Amino acid sequence: MRCKKTKRDGKRCGARALTGNKFCALHAEPGKAAELGSRGGRRRAVSNDAENDPLPPGELPQTAEGVRDLLAEAISQVRRRKLDTKVGNALAYVASSLLRAIELSDLESRLRALEERNDGGSNGN
Ligand SMILES: [Zn+2]
Repeated sequence: MRCKKTKRDGKRCGARALTGNKFCALHAEPGKAAELGSRGGRRRAVSNDAENDPLPPGELPQTAEGVRDLLAEAISQVRRRKLDTKVGNALAYVASSLLRAIELSDLESRLRALEERNDGGSNGN
């Protein structure tokens, strides 16, 4: 189910709608998009340098070490008030899931390596 909201340029929003809702998380609450837009706009006008971004968009840490670095960076930015606490909270939440996923996939690949080694050694037994 896609969001039914029509944007100012006449195109559909198209984001994934909330369960049991015609609109996405942004458009389910009237006025939310405008509020976020104006808030982001004002903040961005103050500090627009790329240094404030912990990571380039689309780039995710692939290792536990990477997650640790990202969190450390986020903590320091929240303390210096360079990062919104809400964003910091969201990052911490996502990072803990990411960490679990990294852990699990690491275990999986180790297990696979072990299994492959076993297959080679005792074939047909
Ligand atoms: Zn929408």
